[in-house]
Amino acid sequence: APAPAAFRHDPHAAPVEAAERAKRLIDPGFGRVFTDHMAVIRYSDQAGWHDAHITARAPLPIDPASSVLHYAQEIFEGMKAYRLADGGTALFRPQANAARFRDSARRMAMAELPDDLFIESIERLVAADSDWIPEGDGALYLRPFMIASEVFLGVKPSAEYIYMVIASSVGAYWKGGVRAITVWVSRDHTRAALGGTGAAKCGGNYAASLIAQKQAIAHGCDQVVFLDAVERRWVEELGGMNLFFVFADGSLQTPPLTGTILPGITRDSLLTLARDAGLTVREEPYAIDQWRADAQSGRLVEAFACGTAAVVTPVGRIADRDGDFTIGDGTGGPVTDRLHQSLVAIQRGTAPDPHGWLHRL
Ligand code: PMP
Repeated sequence: APAPAAFRHDPHAAPVEAAERAKRLIDPGFGRVFTDHMAVIRYSDQAGWHDAHITARAPLPIDPASSVLHYAQEIFEGMKAYRLADGGTALFRPQANAARFRDSARRMAMAELPDDLFIESIERLVAADSDWIPEGDGALYLRPFMIASEVFLGVKPSAEYIYMVIASSVGAYWKGGVRAITVWVSRDHTRAALGGTGAAKCGGNYAASLIAQKQAIAHGCDQVVFLDAVERRWVEELGGMNLFFVFADGSLQTPPLTGTILPGITRDSLLTLARDAGLTVREEPYAIDQWRADAQSGRLVEAFACGTAAVVTPVGRIADRDGDFTIGDGTGGPVTDRLHQSLVAIQRGTAPDPHGWLHRL
């Protein structure tokens, strides 16, 4: 594909007044407060990647026959720009998001955006909207995504795509301190099959998970736990977070990346931090019945979920058809806490960054 044109900055963006912006930043919550701008890059089989620009955030005019609206050829990413302790700003491991975005694109037979363009689009959007990064524990959540935009009803990979990045000011995930979550084991539905799209960050995976999440809420739980699609026995992940188990002997375990779970960047970072701390870590399957037995015997002492949005969240209680159970005293534990603190310290620039994870802006 031809080299893309340099990023253009559309002069027509009308920034939100400072006073209005400050009001929205007082308690932005998650995913409802958006910034002034967006990044856009177009792709076509003929022209390659082109028309890269930063422009005013606005609704998209989209042809009703655009293939994304019918066959769901769509992928996305999720990452944050953080305010650092020294007043600077940084992204956390954006190269990992760029690589995962390419992997998702390949799985969905979409055009693969070069990593340097992915990162440049985010750098430029954050630069345009840096006033929207909240002070304190909040962050600017970045949502790169790509849709199939060819106007054609045939079922085939689109010949045209629109890549965009939007940004949203988000508050501290846990106001008033971390709280353990309760999870519902989905026995009716699975998230991903071997050979399916479980490892891709495509919208379809989330659409398919909503009914199970709805059942979790109906049972008074916060989140759903998915089991594998073959034996309905192995614990996979939550709807939007990976899972870790902490044992009384001090070791950790997390399900392996066999193609049915999302390869979380938080998961990968915590594996590294745990190994750095001298802990034994296994990437091995864990059965739901074993989870219950280990929680009841005391062999398992903590469990936590992890992801960009909430970083690390203790799992306190599991509700299941075959019997509910509680982990430890149901509130979390010291290993979960320590890993959480060490990751946040790197993300906020209050601890050394031995792996070069911070990408300063
Ligand atoms: N699993 C799923 C299904 C997710 O949607 C996410 C969020 N991207 C994660 C795990 C955690 O991934 P990350 O640590 O990269 O945010």
